[in-house]
Amino acid sequence: MNSDLWVEEKLEDFLGLRFKVEKTLFSGKSEFQTVDVVETRGHGKLLLNDGLVMVTERDEFVYHDMITHVPLFVHPNPKRVLVIGGGDGGTAREVIRHKSVEKCVMVEIDEMVVNACKEHIPQTASCLSDPRIELIIDDGVKYVKEAANQGEKFDVILVDSTDPIGPAQPLFGHEFYENIYKSLSEDGIVVSQGESPFYQTDMQNKLVQILNDTFPIVSIYNFSNLTYPGGLWSFTFGSKKYHPLNDFKEEAVAASELDFEYYNKEIHRGAFAIPSFMRKRLSSWLKD
Ligand code: SAM
Repeated sequence: MNSDLWVEEKLEDFLGLRFKVEKTLFSGKSEFQTVDVVETRGHGKLLLNDGLVMVTERDEFVYHDMITHVPLFVHPNPKRVLVIGGGDGGTAREVIRHKSVEKCVMVEIDEMVVNACKEHIPQTASCLSDPRIELIIDDGVKYVKEAANQGEKFDVILVDSTDPIGPAQPLFGHEFYENIYKSLSEDGIVVSQGESPFYQTDMQNKLVQILNDTFPIVSIYNFSNLTYPGGLWSFTFGSKKYHPLNDFKEEAVAASELDFEYYNKEIHRGAFAIPSFMRKRLSSWLKD
């Protein structure tokens, strides 16, 4: 944390994104990471894990709409959804807006993140008291392995993780995705935080390659995120049966009667139109 009341997320040694801080609301260090919640001048409350921006109140709806509603409107009847990570609660909040969802299991490794958000960012975390959400404080890698061995199945799995450092590192690995595949129902879909298409190309390549090895349908889609370095961010899409565009039933969006601030049927289709520099880099692994 900066003492002159700015926080700065640094990307390697060449880029920084700064936020003016009015007040520090929480600062802690868990066994996994540092956790800070600050009140900013321009973006409302901001959660940082290990100094990296996780969510801000001002624009969290963009990330949470796009990680959730894209797969949940491709799957025709998602009943059981698993969220890995997502300790701020924003993804689980969007999942349970879908009437078909009977249960959302959320597995977050760090209780400090959940408690800090419950206390200071109710905009995302207040949903965690909903009876359809089962919050488990555990390692998502371990949980998915056990679920795979025990034959537990989910229709959609959302990997809402931090960058691949510390406990999130295995979330970007082969074994994790093999267990994800086994834990999905026969028409299941996985969507994962897919890093920056400009700056984290090695990690994005690796993730798409792993999906290519594991799933018959592999795609990637983009969204704009004001508060992540570079502003353009990706989610990866792996699916056993449904194609993200060919099987997308536009009428289901209107029929849901849900009101969104970012997502709509045109954004859904447009998000998969990735720029040429990404397609050139990823084309040998995409199966879309
Ligand atoms: N939207 C955010 C982003 O991309 O910056 C992600 C937000 S959410 C706060 C990410 C969460 O993933 C963190 O709270 C972190 O503790 C959790 N996480 C990291 N590794 C994990 C693991 N192995 N199992 C479960 N949760 C994990």
